[in-house]
This record gives sequence, structure tokens and C-alpha cells, in this order.
Amino acid sequence: MSFHYEDECEAWLRDTMENYEEEALSRVSALLAQTTKKSDGCWVSDTQTPRKVRFRGRQVAAYRLVYCVLNRAIVSEEVVVRHRCHNRRCMNPAHLVPGSRADNKRDDWDHWGNGTDRSLL
Ligand SMILES: [Zn+2]
Repeated sequence: MSFHYEDECEAWLRDTMENYEEEALSRVSALLAQTTKKSDGCWVSDTQTPRKVRFRGRQVAAYRLVYCVLNRAIVSEEVVVRHRCHNRRCMNPAHLVPGSRADNKRDDWDHWGNGTDRSLL
């Protein structure tokens, strides 16, 4: 095994996946069970802003927990979980993709450029 510097976020995810996977999976399925499945395919929480969860002492965006646990993805703070559907309240695993912060900004610009979310400007 080669040495790899892990940030706090990666270390927490690794520990979670190695030692608390069942607990994490049941938390994720409980979260997904509370979403509303929309006709456009999005599974949205009933919160105004992206839902946050506290799990094993760390507060994370629910969609990030969903993505990381279901994909067994050990990602650093640098990795953002993006929404292909542009709905940040969405937790449908099929709509979540990893990317860099630059990718995420580009998504926003594309989205704003389309004029669909001018209210956010
Ligand atoms: Zn979606």
C-alpha cells in the first residue's frame, strides 16, 4: 500500500466505509425514503436548502453522503458532488456526479446562461 495523504474528509469516509458501512447504508436509505420522487426524475427533500445530516460526528450535505456511501467513494474536500439536474435539493444517486470546484462553477454558469434560474443571481 502506497502512502497517500488523506484529508479529514477522506479519513472520515474511509473509516465510515470500513467500519460503519451498514449503519451508513441504512442512514442513506432512510434519507432517500424521505424524499419526494418528482416526475422529472429528481428525488427532493422537503427542505428549502440542500438537506444536511449529522452522521458520526460530522455534518455533511445529505446528497454528498448519499453519493459517497452508495459509490463507496472516498473523496477529499476538494471533490464536489455535482447535480446533473441542477437541483441541489435532489438526492437521486443517478443525478449525482463527482467533479472539481471549477466544474461546479461551470455548471452554474451554464445553468444561469440558459436563463432558467435567474432568480439566483
Ligand atoms: Zn435530480
